[in-house]
Amino acid sequence: MSNEIPVKQIDPSSDPSDKNNKSGTVELYASRKKIYVKEVKEGFFQRIRNVSLLVLMGMYFLFVWLTLDGQPLIHFDLPAREFHLYGLTLYPKDFFLLSGLLIIAAFGLFFITTLFGRVWCGYTCPQTVWTFIFMWVEERIEGSRNKRMKLDKSPRSTQKVVKKSLKHTAWLLIALATGLTFVGYFYPIRELIADLFTLQANGWAYFWVGFFTLATYLNAGWMREQVCLYMCPYARFQSVMFDPDTRVVSYDPNRGEPRGGRKKDADPAELGLGDCIDCGQCVQVCPTGIDIRDGLQYECIGCALCIDACDEVMDKMNYPRGLIRYTTENELEGKPSKLMRPRTFGYGAVLALMTGAIVFVLATRVPAQLDVLKDRGAPFGFNGQGRVENSYTLKIANMTEVPQTFNISVSGMEGIQLLTNTQVTVDSGENRALPTVVDVDPETITQSNNIIRFRITSETDESLIIETESRFVGPTR
Ligand code: SF4
Ligand code: SF4
Repeated sequence: MSNEIPVKQIDPSSDPSDKNNKSGTVELYASRKKIYVKEVKEGFFQRIRNVSLLVLMGMYFLFVWLTLDGQPLIHFDLPAREFHLYGLTLYPKDFFLLSGLLIIAAFGLFFITTLFGRVWCGYTCPQTVWTFIFMWVEERIEGSRNKRMKLDKSPRSTQKVVKKSLKHTAWLLIALATGLTFVGYFYPIRELIADLFTLQANGWAYFWVGFFTLATYLNAGWMREQVCLYMCPYARFQSVMFDPDTRVVSYDPNRGEPRGGRKKDADPAELGLGDCIDCGQCVQVCPTGIDIRDGLQYECIGCALCIDACDEVMDKMNYPRGLIRYTTENELEGKPSKLMRPRTFGYGAVLALMTGAIVFVLATRVPAQLDVLKDRGAPFGFNGQGRVENSYTLKIANMTEVPQTFNISVSGMEGIQLLTNTQVTVDSGENRALPTVVDVDPETITQSNNIIRFRITSETDESLIIETESRFVGPTR
């Protein structure tokens, strides 16, 4: 037997879709075909998305303007290394809290994905939300899907230039508002707008506003589904979280096939047809341009627009709704389907544990800190009254949103007293270093090393009391 592998000469210029292509070469590059999405005006899932879109957009554009006790509601103050979140100020030492919140968000996403597939992508992902806003603007200016296709094919005309210019101007304005708002979470929005328009802002502010404006305009206006298909990592790995019990948008081939056109009053059974009338509405409304009837595809972002479109068709035909619906692979095969499975329990358990831990840490967090550093040098000295003195530096951090006036006291030895400030005011976010001296009558000192306690009590918030131990060193008797 010959060990030779037969080799065939291939013509690289040949087209595999060409029936006469005998070489079998496959072109790996597929040029993008523009998708003209038909607007779904009515429909249960479209209404859910509209509500979620309004709520999310409202929060995004409004929260940047809101303040609480004089501080922005949400502000990532990078130069001061402070994060203001809903009345809570977090510092680099609270980094684990931010990490915890990110872990909760990740496990929340995994948990929801195993249950209901890509609902994040379909309803709340910023790429989807902004793309839907841009598509809405496009529909208002250029008209319906058919009109847009006609407009694009038509030769250049005044009407075409006006419509295209209007659309791109509206897109750019929305993108600019988005960029300004995003940077406004890092640079107080009122100052940002005033500084930008009076040319007082620093170069980075101009750069980031420009960057986010351009990114929004390109991603939501031009690239759209390409971001989901080629750039988003989540789209690639989310399928590993799916199992036969994950409830996703699916076409029911048992009910729909064989598909085919028919008159409205015709009996499909007599024609030997299923319920799909092959109208193509589900394909026309799909923002990624796929046909859900081909089965579960990674391009599907789970937006459920095809469900709304098909339900409308079913209503017109007097067929039951749900030819395309949220269902599971097991249900489509006539098998029972479970909501909670080992993996959902696993993700749910981690989510509950992490949420509990973060809530506990936040509930017990003391928003101030007292560190006591004993001064280097001579461990003790005698003052003019013949008393033994020790020197310290108190480091008092105020992590609340308002200035705090603290009363300072010391205890732990008979007759110990403070010789320096007994009260200090620390601004919000300030970390104050306070030189402090205490003294003790040498007659009362019984050992060289003594444990003492410094205490700060806030006058502003009486529940804010912190005590920290230190050492008082005296002469050996
Ligand atoms: S919208 Fe419904 S009936 Fe029309 S082609 Fe799609 S699945 Fe078939
Ligand atoms: S097939 Fe298209 S329209 Fe249907 S859910 Fe997926 S992305 Fe949306």
